Amino acid sequence: MTNCERCGAALDPTALTCPFCGLTTRAGVQARAMEEQAAQSRAGLAAQWAIQQQRASQMDIAKLGTQAMWWSIAGIVLCCLPLGVVGMVMGLRARGRAQAANITVPGTAMAGLVIGAISCVTSIALFTYAAIESQNEQDHANKRVAEIDKQLGKKPEAPTLDHDTACLLGEQYTLKNSFDDKSGYQFENFECAGKLTQTTDSAQLEDLKFHYNSDEEKAFVCFKRGTKWYVDRLATSGCNADATATSASASADAAAAPSATSAPATTHSHHAHETRDARDH
Ligand SMILES: [Zn+2]
Repeated sequence: MTNCERCGAALDPTALTCPFCGLTTRAGVQARAMEEQAAQSRAGLAAQWAIQQQRASQMDIAKLGTQAMWWSIAGIVLCCLPLGVVGMVMGLRARGRAQAANITVPGTAMAGLVIGAISCVTSIALFTYAAIESQNEQDHANKRVAEIDKQLGKKPEAPTLDHDTACLLGEQYTLKNSFDDKSGYQFENFECAGKLTQTTDSAQLEDLKFHYNSDEEKAFVCFKRGTKWYVDRLATSGCNADATATSASASADAAAAPSATSAPATTHSHHAHETRDARDH
């Protein structure tokens, strides 16, 4: 039994206040202090948790921003529209999340946005340019095809195929078709100095050369004759040879090959194809 400090009444030791004068007992003071401490630590924990959450989302947003930036950089380097769009969208998301969380928008997110936008613009410009360029090339090729038709006239109907006619037929066929997985209309600067060999109903023209940007292609033009001479196909290693074996003579030809354009009908063989590869690579 304890007594109240103010009125001296006998108190239950667990009582927090005196039932007679209302004084807070020692036990009461202690209990209140403990309660305050508990509340404080609860608040502390909550605050800590909030900080942790904020830090986590800050890291998330920063990560998103960095990703946005790299997607956009990839977009601008590869000039690929979808990558730039991804970068922009991610940059926007990072910015939105940062603003919602009341965090400074990461610089990477802004970089992702800006670079992504630039990447989109340059991609579109490049695609447009490529489309126009391709259209120009096609128009040019179509014109040339028509021009060759005029130049040829009835020449392909002659019993023997002359060299000029063979060259024109080869060029026309190449422009209309494709070679080495490239559309024919892209080829230009045709050179036709190779040897023409023929029988009554078939012919082969060696070394028809043409260019695509800085690449030089070289083809055998294979002709057939029905009511007139026409190109059956282009071949890389001779019209009669399906699979020419690489032989030692290929390297011997390599030395002579560069002069082939200026000296028509030289004696190099079907292995000329391999020698070109040897020079170019
Ligand atoms: Zn009392």
